[in-house]
Parts: sequence; structure tokens; C-alpha cells
Amino acid sequence: MLSTLSEKKMHVVRWGVFLAWCLLIVSLFYDPVSAVLTQPENDWSWLADPTLAVATDPAQCVSAQGYCVSLKPYAIGTRVFWGMVVPSAIFVVLVFGHEFWRRICPLYFFSQLPRALGMKPLLNIERNTWLQNNHFYVQFVLFFLGITARILLINSVRSAVGVFFILTLLSAAGVVALYGGRSWCHYVCPFGMVQTVFTGPRGLLDSQAHQAAPYSLTQSMCRSVDSQQQEQSACISCKSACMDIDSERAYWEQLRKPGRRLVQYGYLGLVIGYFCYYALYAGNFDYYFSGVWSHESRTVAALIDPGFYVLGPLNAIPKLIAAPLTLAAFAAASCWLCTRFERHYRGYLKKKQSLAATELSLHRMFSVCTFLAFNIFFIYGGRPEINHWPVAAQFGFQALIAIVSSLWLYRTWGRSQRQYQKESLADKLRRQLKKLPVNVAELLGNRPLEQLSPEELDILAQILPQVTAVSETPAYSHQSLPRTVLKRRPPDTTLRKTTLPSTQIRQR
Ligand code: SF4
Repeated sequence: MLSTLSEKKMHVVRWGVFLAWCLLIVSLFYDPVSAVLTQPENDWSWLADPTLAVATDPAQCVSAQGYCVSLKPYAIGTRVFWGMVVPSAIFVVLVFGHEFWRRICPLYFFSQLPRALGMKPLLNIERNTWLQNNHFYVQFVLFFLGITARILLINSVRSAVGVFFILTLLSAAGVVALYGGRSWCHYVCPFGMVQTVFTGPRGLLDSQAHQAAPYSLTQSMCRSVDSQQQEQSACISCKSACMDIDSERAYWEQLRKPGRRLVQYGYLGLVIGYFCYYALYAGNFDYYFSGVWSHESRTVAALIDPGFYVLGPLNAIPKLIAAPLTLAAFAAASCWLCTRFERHYRGYLKKKQSLAATELSLHRMFSVCTFLAFNIFFIYGGRPEINHWPVAAQFGFQALIAIVSSLWLYRTWGRSQRQYQKESLADKLRRQLKKLPVNVAELLGNRPLEQLSPEELDILAQILPQVTAVSETPAYSHQSLPRTVLKRRPPDTTLRKTTLPSTQIRQR
């Protein structure tokens, strides 16, 4: 959606978002003013928190493990970040597409500091085959540690969140200093993994990189502005296939990569486990929905509280152990269940003699998982804030979530790698069919080639050479050619050329 907006404009936007994030980080260490916004008597403030007014009333207070959670007016930094920024980012990725997020991401912006300082990457990512092959595992583990840390500490301990953000910023810049490009986003960033889950082959409003003109700057591809104010590729081929150049190509190429299942199935389990743990810990769901976890005062002392209050107040597993245990159990159960469903579905597709049953079963299971994760996230995530809205707005928002996620699933369900390849080649085939020594439009009843769908072009490109016996004209991809014709043709690099920048083509 943002792929065509100029880099100069986006640079200004990124500065704005980054400065807002810096302000948030500073406020986590020192904020003497925003607490007034949460005082329940301040009707003029949309952040006024009614739970504070009843915090000492045992009949109405928010309780955890049988006691009223101790509350007082609080600085808003953690509430704003976890309750508003994080849900907004997830919504943006699925609806507006990864290219929107990745062009405004403040963490990406800061990670490019080494490049802005003119530093060359210290190492070549090509040589780190371990990281290239296992980055999904790395990102999943970091994500797991991150949400465990949220439950235990950084949901509400503001200085800890501040330190966490600063370390994250430094890590991002450090990884890019080592490997350049967007190596942080592709290989390490835990939110990069979440983007992989919620984008799938393409976000709802993502642009279509594979149908763009050859060598154009697509999606969120790295770019810079030269001295003539022209935008140019700044790609250093840090990733193949790169999600920022063509998310759908990256999706199909990574579908069977090690760790891809874990990312998709495990993430669904982590989303469910994360929200369920609050109820297991507190003994009620009200604790989560009230949002008190973002500003309660005894977070550190609570680390040794009984971790599973639902099992009784005296169970011996402390929260410190119970939280990661719960998350791991949900992730493992989700992986196990989804893998079984996938296997059954693959068997069903094979029985129906469906082509590419393995690819299709993976793709559709992944799509269903994304749909479920998005809906489950918005049943819980952001809910502490949404619950303050008027009832009609709450229903409206939930309807919006259901509609956009259903639309996303509808558009994604029928996709396949074959379809993607046909669409990628359509323009090239049209141009080459026009060069044939026959009037193709006339053969088609005066239907211009521009009106043919990628499927029709694909069929035409397969049969026309045989019908016309003019096999010397390179009008088709080599998968579709008869063997005899194929032997006479040089290798076809059409697909690569239409989807990769020149640097990546050269590198290969
Ligand atoms: S492969 Fe190129 S465009 Fe993609 S993230 Fe790396 S440097 Fe940027």
C-alpha cells in the first residue's frame, strides 16, 4: 500500500514515529505528569481509569488470587504501549500489509544507523548459513522469551520496559552493523516472525510485487535517494527470497523451511496460552480484561506467587516457572494438533488427487492459523482499552476484525505457487505472444491479449507453439514447453528477472 510513496516522505514519517517512541522510552524512566490522566474523577480524560475508584472495595475491585489488586493513579507509558501500540501494529500488518509496517517501523529505522554512518557490514550473511537456515527458530525463541518477560516483568515495571527497549534498539543496530541490509528484521527480530504469520502470502492491501514492471522498487524494498533526488535500490541481497521485495515469493519459497511450522502453529498456541495464563494465575478473567497488569505495583513480589491459582492458593509452582511452562505447553499442544490436522488434510487432498497436496495442505493450515490467531488476539488483545469504548463502537470494532480477517482468508485460501508463477509470467507471455507470426487476437475471436487472464495465457503459451509449429519464438516458460523445443532454447530467467533486483540476480 505504501510502496509507491516516496522515500523522502517515508523518511519524515519514520523520524516522527521514532521520536514518538523515544518520548515513550524517556517517559518510562521519568514521567511526573501523565498519571493525572488516569484519575477516575477526571471525566475529561479518555484514559481515566474507573477501576482505581473501586480498588479497595472487595465487592467491586479487580482481584487476583483472592485479593484486591493494589492500584493508584499511574503513568501511562506501559498501558499505551502494550494496550494500544502492539494491537495497532498487528492490525496494520494484516490489513495494510507488511510493506506498510516495514516502511514505518521505528526499530528498522534505528537499525539502519550503521548504514547512515557510512559503515560497511563487517560480515557476510551468506557465510552464516546456520542463521540463514535456522532464523525461524531464533525468532521464535526470542519471541517466547519476550512474552514470558511481559507476563513476569515488563508489562508493568516501567524501568524494565525502558531497559528492554534500549537493549532491543542496540541489538537491532548491532545486527545490521554485522550483516547489513535488513538482517535484523529478517533473521532476528521477533516481530519479524509475527509479520511472517500475519502477512501470509500477502496482506489485505499489500501491493502485488510480482506484477510490477521489471526492476521497479517494490513493496518495502530497501531504497535510497541519489543526488538527483531519484530513488534507487539500496539492496545488498541480505536475504533470498526477500519479503521486502516480494512477500508472496518469499512465502512460497519458505513454506517448507525448517522452523516455518513452529512459527505458524507455535505462535497460535502462544497467543492462546498468553491470554489463558492470566486466568490461571489470577483465578479470573477480569484481571486480564481490566488491564491492571499494565500498572499494578507488586509485579516483582508476585514472581513467587503461586503460579496456578486455579489449582488452589497453595500450589507450589511459582509464577516465575508457571508462566513459561504454560506458554510452552500451549505452543507444543498447538504444534501437535495443527500438525495432525495438516497430515489428515494432506491425506484427504491426495485422495482427491489434488496437485501439490503437500504445499496446499501447508498453505491452508497456515492460513487458518493466521485467521484464528488474528481473531483470538482481538478478542483479548487491546480489549482492556476497547472495553472503555461505547458499546456500539465495541461491536463495530469486533465486526471490523471479523470482516477484514474473513476477507484476508478468502483472498489467501485459493492462492498457490503455480498461480503466483502464472501471474508473474503473464506480462512477459503477452509481450512474447505478440511476436508470434500469427494474429493471436484474431484466433481468439478478436479478443485482445490484454483481456486474457494469467491462466488463459498460460494455456495459450503451451498449445500455440505446437499448433503453429513456430517453436523458434521464445513465447513461454520452459516448464510448459515440449522437450524437443526446450532443447533448442537457452535457460529462461524470466521469473527471476521480474521479481528480483539486479544485485540479487547477479549474486546468484
Ligand atoms: S534483500 Fe535487499 S531489499 Fe531485501 S532486506 Fe535485504 S537489502 Fe533490503
